[in-house]
Amino acid sequence: MNTSLKSAQSIQSLINEAYERYTSKNPLSHAQNKKASGVLPGGNTRTVLYSAPFPITLASAEGCYITSLDGHTYVDYLGEFTAGLYGHTDPIIREAIETALDNGWVRGGHIEQEEDLARLICDRFPSIDLVRFANSGTEANLYAIATARAVSNKNKIMVFEGGYHGGVLTFGSSASPLRVPYEFVLGQFNNWDSTESLLEENRNDLACVLIEPMQGSSGCIPASPEFLSALREWTSKHNIILIFDEVMTSRMSGGGLQEVYDIRPDLTTLGKYIGGGFSFGAFGGREDIMRRFDPSSPNYFSHAGTFNNNVFTMSAGAAGYGKVFTPDVARDLSKRGETLRARLNKVAASATFPMQFTGIGSLMNVHMCSGEIKSTRDTSGSNNELRDLFYFDMLESNIWPARRGMLNLSLPMGEVEFERLINAVEIFVEKRRGVAT
Ligand SMILES: *Cc1c(COP(=O)(O)O)cnc(C)c1O
Repeated sequence: MNTSLKSAQSIQSLINEAYERYTSKNPLSHAQNKKASGVLPGGNTRTVLYSAPFPITLASAEGCYITSLDGHTYVDYLGEFTAGLYGHTDPIIREAIETALDNGWVRGGHIEQEEDLARLICDRFPSIDLVRFANSGTEANLYAIATARAVSNKNKIMVFEGGYHGGVLTFGSSASPLRVPYEFVLGQFNNWDSTESLLEENRNDLACVLIEPMQGSSGCIPASPEFLSALREWTSKHNIILIFDEVMTSRMSGGGLQEVYDIRPDLTTLGKYIGGGFSFGAFGGREDIMRRFDPSSPNYFSHAGTFNNNVFTMSAGAAGYGKVFTPDVARDLSKRGETLRARLNKVAASATFPMQFTGIGSLMNVHMCSGEIKSTRDTSGSNNELRDLFYFDMLESNIWPARRGMLNLSLPMGEVEFERLINAVEIFVEKRRGVAT
């Protein structure tokens, strides 16, 4: 028998074993999923949280720990796909929520906290002169794109292979039938030569270029500073709006990854943790572009949204961003993440199979392949069955990662939690010695 076929089969049988253990350990989650399937398709209302054979239902959370319906407690390394930066029970955020509760919510008027949060964002991001709020990162990106099209009077949008800007703006390997029907030009991430020729080809029709300075959903793949600089230079020269999607990466420093790289986009989109754990999105940037939304000016752009200044989001967001996640704390978290990733890569290097952790700062992703990863093209040969096995082995060690192998730090985490992750990865590497080789 061909050895690769043999190892593929043996991994599948190991995954089947893992499924059986998982099923027997989580009977209440299994029952809950069956019940929910009667009213939600597959018992699910958020695709990314679905995990075969059935997803685990969570009952409560505290600090950086979560507890399932079945009573298992995990170290929360998912961190709500980065929206959970503050952990689950931050006292300063709690106080802001309690104040909001005392003063009533769904008010239907301007509130002071919207200025507080906007000011924090504008102060920290030199590229953001003015900002507007939305309810999700998806919405923020849709508005940023629509804004670029409206001010430029052009149609096309350059995005990149592997890019993720929301459920209707995904550019992974298979095209989603739900993608918004804009005219997209698909560039190769981190490949300047091919990107430049596409830009040249579409120069007269491009409204904007939209890019994540580190691709998050595709597995924490950083854009090189050279690539981003080249994009900045070219788009400036040709007067095309450059949008950085920093929905995930804004946590990399006080002013996001754009501060680390010292590159100023025309527009930036934000989301995830900045709402303090509540629904949040924002888009902002150059004064001349954003000023168009001023309702006291002629021919202004209308941007509606019942919950754009949701009392809970604005209150929790301003308290968290202003008092908890200060620029110093942001830089320190990134540093701690870099150290942890280096330690994890040391363990990965001792595995009998290809394995590595990519990322920047406090966001990382495991990949079961070797060689430098500069784009999703470089991970196409990675062993996804082994990555599934990694997921189930992490759960066995009471670590809660994303099924796709993403691991994110949150502020309550310390050395104890880092040790637990490293230990879990050591157990995986040891236990799975000889698999897939
Ligand atoms: C999560 C995410 C989005 C979408 O944000 P939602 O709030 O889930 O709509 C957009 N872009 C990036 C880079 C993200 O990580």
